[in-house]
Order: sequence, then C-alpha cells, then structure tokens
Amino acid sequence: MHSTPYTFRHTKIIATVGPATESKEKLSQLISDGVDVVRLNMAHGTEQWVTDTVRRIREVSTNVGRQVAVMMDVKGPEIRTGLVDPAVELVVGSRLHLRTRDELPSPAGITSVTVNYADLPNDVEVGTVMLVDSGLLRFRVLEKDQHTVLCEALTPGVLHSRRHINLPGVNVGLPSLTDKDRADLRAGIEAGIDFVALSFVREAADVRVLKTFLQELGSRARIVAKIEDSAGVRNMVEIVREADAIMVARGDLGIEIDFHKLPLVQTQLVDVCQAEGKPVIIATHLLESMIQSPMPTRAEISDVCNAVREQADAVMLSGETTVGSYPLESVGVLKSIIRSTEPTLRCELNDTIALRTPKAKMLRAAAVLAQDLGQSGIVVFTRSGFLAYVLGALRARGIPIYAFTDDETLFRQLLLPWGVEPFLMKFSDDPSETIANSLEILKVKKWVAEGTWLVVITNALSDDSIVDSLQLRQVE
Ligand code: PGA
Ligand code: MN
Repeated sequence: MHSTPYTFRHTKIIATVGPATESKEKLSQLISDGVDVVRLNMAHGTEQWVTDTVRRIREVSTNVGRQVAVMMDVKGPEIRTGLVDPAVELVVGSRLHLRTRDELPSPAGITSVTVNYADLPNDVEVGTVMLVDSGLLRFRVLEKDQHTVLCEALTPGVLHSRRHINLPGVNVGLPSLTDKDRADLRAGIEAGIDFVALSFVREAADVRVLKTFLQELGSRARIVAKIEDSAGVRNMVEIVREADAIMVARGDLGIEIDFHKLPLVQTQLVDVCQAEGKPVIIATHLLESMIQSPMPTRAEISDVCNAVREQADAVMLSGETTVGSYPLESVGVLKSIIRSTEPTLRCELNDTIALRTPKAKMLRAAAVLAQDLGQSGIVVFTRSGFLAYVLGALRARGIPIYAFTDDETLFRQLLLPWGVEPFLMKFSDDPSETIANSLEILKVKKWVAEGTWLVVITNALSDDSIVDSLQLRQVE
C-alpha cells in the first residue's frame, strides 16, 4: 500500500519575490520548500531586474532540481502620484494639490504633487472621495480645473512618493496596456516568463489586447487576468472566458468595491472559474501580519483555510515574501494549513464545469474511476495542456494528476492548476512505450509504489487508427 508523497498538494503556492527573497540563497530555499510559481511585480521592478531575476531563478532551479513557473505581473492602468521629497505629513483638513502636468505652478503654502493621469480632473467631481496608498489616505475633492484638482485630507497620514490612487466606481480612461507594460513584457518574454498577470482588467477586450501583443512577439505566456475593480467584477464571466486564469486581487478590490462584499465576490469568482474550467488565484493579505511576525493571526489562518476549502487553485504571497521578515516561514505556514485542510475537502467532483467534447467528458470518467480505486492517480499526456487543465478543474480530491509533456514551457505552465503534478519527458512514437516510460518515472521518483492502480488517458492504436482510450494500469 502506498500513500502519495507528503509533498503532494492540490493547492499551489505563489510567492512574489523582492528584496527579502531575491538572493540565490533565499530563492533556493523558496523553490526547494515547494513554491510552485514565482511572481515578479512590475509595479516596482525594472527591465534589467526582470532579466537578472529570471536568470537567477532558472539557475537556482537547475541547482535545486525543481522547476518553478515565472509570472510577470504588469502594472496596467494604475493612477499614481509623483515624487514628494521629503514625504509630507498631513492632518485632517490639510490641502493637497494634484497637477496633471509637471510644469504647472504649485499654489503657495499647499503641498502639490503630479499625477500620471491627464484625465483625472474630468473623472472626478467636487465631493468625490479619492483613496491613496491602499486606502490609507482619503481625500475629498474641493475644486478642479482642466489640469488640476484641489482636495482636502479626510484622514491624517503621511504621503510618500509614487502612491497608487483608487477612484472607486470611476471608469478610468488609461489604456489597459501602458508603454511601461509593453517594455516590461518585451524584457520578460526575452527572459522566458511563463505567465503574465494583467492588472485592472476591466473587460474581456483588455485581455485580447495583451493576447495580440504576446502573439506579435511570439510568446506563449498564459494570461492571468487580475480582477481588482467593480468593472472587472461586473464583466467577470466574459473576462474568465477570455483569460487563461484569474487572480482575485483583493488588495485593490477591497478598496474599489464595498469591503464587506469582498469574500462574496471571491466566492463568485471561484465559482465562475470552476464553471469555465479556469484556474483561480487568491491574492493579497493572506498572511499580512507575517511581514513582521513569525506567527499569523487567527483570522489569517482561517482566511487561508477558507481559500483551500473553496478549492482555489493557488494562494499567493506578496509583501510577506517581498519585504517581510519571515518569507520562508510564511510559505511553511501556507503549506501546513493546506496539509491540514485538504484531507477534509468534499470528494464530489466539480459538477458545474461544461465538458463539451467527448474527450473532455472522458476525463470525468477517469476521475470517477480513480476516486473509486482509491490511492490512485491519473496519468495524462499533453502537448497543449488542455487535458491537464480540465482534469485539474474537475477537482478529484486525493487524486494526483500526473501530467506528462515534452514541452518545457507547458511543463512550467502546468504548475498552476489544482492537483496537477507535471513531468517533462520525451514522447515515443509508440504509445505503449510512452506509457511504460511514464510509469517508470513515477516509480523511480517514488510518486507511486509497485502494485498501485493508475488511470491512464492516452492514444492507442486500434485496427490501424488512433483512438482515445482510458486504461487501467498497475505499476509493476
Ligand atoms: P498588486 O495586485 O499587488 O499588484 O496591487 C494584487 C492586489 O491588488 O491584490
Ligand atoms: Mn492591485
């Protein structure tokens, strides 16, 4: 009797790298500790940083003997304030002057700062509340003209340089892919990124713009659409259909929509992704207190547990691993919550997913059979990733999906979906040889023991034609 190795998890872990984790030593630890996807946040990174960091990740992966996928998160249409040097201390009632052009004069005695969005004065009204720096600072608009906005602080606080401005409910007119995004993407594609996360996706067309750009550059990176405002929520179904995966970007979402509806929107997004068979990532503030503390709060533990129970494909760390004092501990905490929670998940398969083709329907049969066998697994061979992504979306609890591919990019892209354990292997012309090789790899790597029954999805030769088949194989 074998049991799946303790390292097997259905729920994947994404860690954002930054100053706390970008050294070779820390990256080695993150990767050998089981992080599946490494995220580069381009709100802070430069092109050179991308080139260097991706190279380092690949080098370290080779040394450690474990691959990770790289996700570049592009900034998108984000409104930001300019430089304030030194930072300004504001009290309730302090005036703040925003100008859309650098050369405009600043009024005497009032703090003035530039913004990167020329249409800001058009998009706000007198009385509009603007949120700055993740909602830490709130301002009300007092006056505006064509190029400037004058507001008053509603909260005390310190304004630092280059802070993000949220305008809840306002349809921001910035392009979905900015010049910086395009430059960052060129560097990322050159470096070999596997996923692109697109910030502030407001409608499906935003995803199509990125898709076209990637195609023009010959990149096969998969697109993760970040849902972070009310337009993204309103258009979620179309966006999920257009994108390869979704990120529930709770940082901005918690400001842009009523914060008390955030968990409900999270569940809605998970449900839509399940119905469409697309991976979904839960992001931001999962273990926020661990930036400073070696222990998570009880509420954070429950939040991560909830994401695992909702069967999100992946949970993501941001500040915890970019600037936190306990990045490795944070990964350890996620792993332990996942380990405790997953065995308690319901066994029912995803019954909302629409399986359109006969071959896709066969996957459900494979999942049912594997669950009936118990202590089993599904072996699948894939060149497009489709079969493995659908198998992941079926949510067969307790059943690892051993996905074999001969394509290195796809191999890394298979690290994201729930329960998929990818393997890179050359395919033989003879399907039975390919199967034998895959079972041998699983045995040698101790994923399965002798005697284990596996469900194998494969092409087989029957009367001189290739047919789709589902086979039962016992590991010898
Ligand atoms: P960010 O996106 O970290 O790039 O802001 C995630 C979020 O808003 O939650
Ligand atoms: Mn965001």
